[in-house]
Amino acid sequence: MDIGFIGLGNMGAPMARNLSAAGHSVTGFDLAASPPEGVTSATSAAEAASGRDAVITMLPDGAILARVYAEIVPAARPGAVLVDCSTVDVDSARAASTLATAAGLLAVDAPVSGGTGGAAAGTLTFMAGGAPEAFAAAKPLFEIMGSRAVHCGAAGAGQSAKICNNMILGITMLGVCEAFALADKLGLDRQAMYDVVSTSSGACWSVNTYCPAPGIGPKSPADNDYKPGFAAELMLKDLRLSQEAAGSVDAATPLGAHARDLYEAFVRSGGAGRDFSAMLPWLAERNRDAG
Ligand code: NAD
Repeated sequence: MDIGFIGLGNMGAPMARNLSAAGHSVTGFDLAASPPEGVTSATSAAEAASGRDAVITMLPDGAILARVYAEIVPAARPGAVLVDCSTVDVDSARAASTLATAAGLLAVDAPVSGGTGGAAAGTLTFMAGGAPEAFAAAKPLFEIMGSRAVHCGAAGAGQSAKICNNMILGITMLGVCEAFALADKLGLDRQAMYDVVSTSSGACWSVNTYCPAPGIGPKSPADNDYKPGFAAELMLKDLRLSQEAAGSVDAATPLGAHARDLYEAFVRSGGAGRDFSAMLPWLAERNRDAG
C-alpha cells in the first residue's frame, strides 16, 4: 500500500518504520521530528496524505488532530482509509470521523496500548472504532504494527475503550503503590510482598508486569530510575480524558476522579518527566496527613 504517516514522534516513528520494513511505501510528515529509516519525507500533512491508500496519524491531542484533519481530508483520494492512532477525547475522534466520511473517506479511531516498546516490536494492541469496512481496510496495517486489533464499535468506540482501560491502569497503579508504601512502613520485605501479591487476589498488570518497586519482578521503568516508559503526564492526560467523558454521560467514576487528582498533584510536585509508576517513591515519602 501507499501510506501517509503524520506524527513521527516516540510512537509514530517506530510504527512507520515497521510499515516500511514490511514492504509498504510510507511517506511521513512531522512538524519537528525527522522521518525514520525507510520513510520518505513530505513537506506538509496534505502532501503526505495526497493520493495515498491509507493515512495514519499519531498526534498529541484532539485540537491538533482537528487541525491536521482539516488539511488532510481535502487532500486524500476518495475511498482512502484514515486511521487515527492518537489518544484523544471521544468527541474529537467522532468529529474527525464525521469530517472524513462526509468527504467519501473511510475512517477509524484506533488508539493503542503497549507503549514505545510495543511500537518498536510491532506488538501493539489496537482498539478501533468505525464502520466495519473501514476496520477491514485498516486491519492489514494493524497486523504489521501490532499483535491484536479489537473492533469495539462505531466511531469513537476505540477512544472510549482506551480511556476506560487507562482509568483502570491509573487506579490499579495507585493501589499497588499505596500497598507497597504501606508494606514498607509495616516492615514487610518488598520481595515477600511481591511473591505473595503477584500470586494472590491482588495480582494485576501493575504488580505482575510493571512492578513499581525497583529490583522486584520483571524489568520495568522502576529498574531504570523511573525513566518513562509511560510518562506520568501522559497518564494524567488519559485520566483527564476519562473524567471529561464521564462528565459528558453523567457516569459515576469516583476512583477515576481521585486518581486524576493524585496524578495532578504528582505531576505538579516533581512527577513530570518520570514514569507513572514513580508514584511509589512519591507516596512512600508522605505521611498519613498528606492525604
Ligand atoms: P510525541 O510527542 O513523541 O509525538 C507526537 C509527534 O507529533 C511529535 O513528533 C510532534 O512534532 C508531532 N506533531 C505535533 N503537531 C503536529 C502537526 N500539526 N503536524 C505534524 N506533526 C505534528 O508523542 P508520542 O509518545 O508518540 O504519542 C503520540 C500519541 O500516542 C499521543 O496521543 C499519546 O497519548 C499516545 N500514546 C502514547 C504512548 C507512549 O507510551 N508514548 C502509548 C500509547 C498511546
